[in-house]
Amino acid sequence: MKMREIAEGIYEVILHDKEKEVGEMRVHIVKGKPGKRSLMVDTGFGSQESLEDMEEALAALDIPYKDLDIFLTHKHHDHCGLASTFAKKGAKIFMNPEEERHSYDCLYMQMGEESQKEQKEVLKNVGISEEWTPKLWKRFMELNEWMAKQREPWVYEIQKYPYVALTEGETFSYGDYDFWVISLRGHTYGQRGLYDAKHRIAFTADQVMEGITPIVGTTHANEHLLGLYFQSLSWMKRELGDCLIIPGHGEPIEHVAPVIDQIVYSYLKKMDQVKDAVVKDETPKTVWQTTKLVYGIKEIPEDGEDFIVMKSMISKTFSCLEYLYEQELVQRDYRDGRLYYGKM
Ligand SMILES: [Zn+2]
Repeated sequence: MKMREIAEGIYEVILHDKEKEVGEMRVHIVKGKPGKRSLMVDTGFGSQESLEDMEEALAALDIPYKDLDIFLTHKHHDHCGLASTFAKKGAKIFMNPEEERHSYDCLYMQMGEESQKEQKEVLKNVGISEEWTPKLWKRFMELNEWMAKQREPWVYEIQKYPYVALTEGETFSYGDYDFWVISLRGHTYGQRGLYDAKHRIAFTADQVMEGITPIVGTTHANEHLLGLYFQSLSWMKRELGDCLIIPGHGEPIEHVAPVIDQIVYSYLKKMDQVKDAVVKDETPKTVWQTTKLVYGIKEIPEDGEDFIVMKSMISKTFSCLEYLYEQELVQRDYRDGRLYYGKM
């Protein structure tokens, strides 16, 4: 277990999803005063290794589950993977209920009828169905079946957990810190972070990372996620420019402004590619057709993890297309259950 104190009373535990190099995740613990409650920001992957590391960290800091609050920034598998386990052990969990507004998402898996039904709708919208794209459809269904057969939950699967819904303007106080809940829309619709104005420290989940462009993954039309993301980034630049920014992945960031500029630049570049792909001829394209063009996808990945990566490319392309449509740079049509984007 790798733990270090990154600010007074704030500890960082680095976890790894051993199967993939993308899987590095940092969970943070704010130690409470003696006999008082402590805070964990996110939980890490739903794996035995992560659980052992986190239990070791909690024991080293002498924090029992009954005195532990867990703030979930957003409902992705690397952040909530252990939430159900910790809830059973007695921790109290907090999350924005907006994170559950749909049961199917680009990056996490949920079993159950509801999610499977929604998956079909979502896939249809982006141009994937049994009839139109039989091979790709089959892979989605095979993955569902494979997951249903697993005795242990897959690392991408999030088990249900009880939580207390975050409320507007709520503060969380631990040790010498008073954190405000801040809205960080973009990476997901309801992502939330924490900000201590006096100590100039903010937990900002997956909104910004150094050297990585976070995925803004759209699931349904009209979510406006990229627009909300750009708004959030400009707010962060203005209000949190002098803060120590603690992301969920990678090192803490001392100067966030150039990191934000880099992310915006990279999105604008991607947006250009997406627009070029859509307007290169007269034929309107589905999200899936555009994704294939932009990322040069020729083969459907056999490997489950690679498949998830491809799935997130679809969600990212969807976000770009929706933003271009909102900016009136491309046209959008809805025909036979499919969204089409084309020349104005
Ligand atoms: Zn993450």
